[in-house]
Amino acid sequence: MEKTKKVSRKGAKQAKVRISSQLDYLISSNDKLIIDSDTHISNSNLLSQSMAKKVKQDFLYFHGKPADMDELVFSMDLSKIDMSLSCLSWQNPSVTQYFGEDEQHNFESLFAANKYIYDSSIKYMERIIPAGWTDPAALGKDLAIEMVDICVDHFGFGIIKINPAQNRFMINSEQVVEIVTHIIKKKAVPAFQFGADTKYTSVSGLRFLAEKFENSKLLAIHMGGGGASYIDAEDVYQDSLFLGKNHSNIMFVESAKHDTHIRNDLLYFSNKGTSIIENLAWASDFPYGLQVWNFGGLKSLIHELEASLLRNELNTNRIMGGNMKNLLMETYQNLLS
Ligand SMILES: [Zn+2]
Repeated sequence: MEKTKKVSRKGAKQAKVRISSQLDYLISSNDKLIIDSDTHISNSNLLSQSMAKKVKQDFLYFHGKPADMDELVFSMDLSKIDMSLSCLSWQNPSVTQYFGEDEQHNFESLFAANKYIYDSSIKYMERIIPAGWTDPAALGKDLAIEMVDICVDHFGFGIIKINPAQNRFMINSEQVVEIVTHIIKKKAVPAFQFGADTKYTSVSGLRFLAEKFENSKLLAIHMGGGGASYIDAEDVYQDSLFLGKNHSNIMFVESAKHDTHIRNDLLYFSNKGTSIIENLAWASDFPYGLQVWNFGGLKSLIHELEASLLRNELNTNRIMGGNMKNLLMETYQNLLS
């Protein structure tokens, strides 16, 4: 703990340098920059013994086989994207080990996972846009807030994610509201896992936050997707559209979602004006999803809609990277001000 705090003080200056250099890159990149807005990487040296053994012995091991930063870069190259590609990356919750109610130990484990994201972004400044992660259930509220401070002040992260589904707490609970208030006070952007697969990330819960923090951007990852079945997810899919129409401070990231519903989202949002279509971004959810598949599919879908339905407002570059780039540039400028 002492060590972590010491590193944090020393790192405040490095954070500003990191933000400045990435902001310069974003400003100088042309409008062809592609951003995959939901990827997870993890340090292969920090896998639990049992996970490391399974990964090594069974190539069929679960669909989100842990991947490190070099594997992410390999995946980007495999996608054969003929433009620059950056990835918004955060830790992989399936890999980071928690130790029951030992909040201090959990804090150190999540700190190491967040630090790996920071180190990766230093190594691959043009390819990895780092984002942080905090967890009030595993760390307790106070340490969760301290993690926010480290992520913003020491690592220079502009986005901090909370995943209510993983450790089962409501997205609009009192402790989440307190942490979100703190993230916004630090001029960073809160992000949430927002899937249909658990009761912890309900549409009404996200609406509550959107109304409470109406002047701040909130990121909702999966836009109601995730691991739910088609039937279970249907209501959340539909309600998310209306939520987005009525709350322009919510930005949705289309990852881990059925393709037919992504198509509906594009059509619906493109009808609702610029301030709404600016709130969509694509993502692969790597390594849970394949970049080559998601990038290729979405790009083709947008082209098809633009051509056949004359939906020029969809604008491939906007959905594939421009919207997220604008949010990041604004956030980094705020952090430096
Ligand atoms: Zn994800």
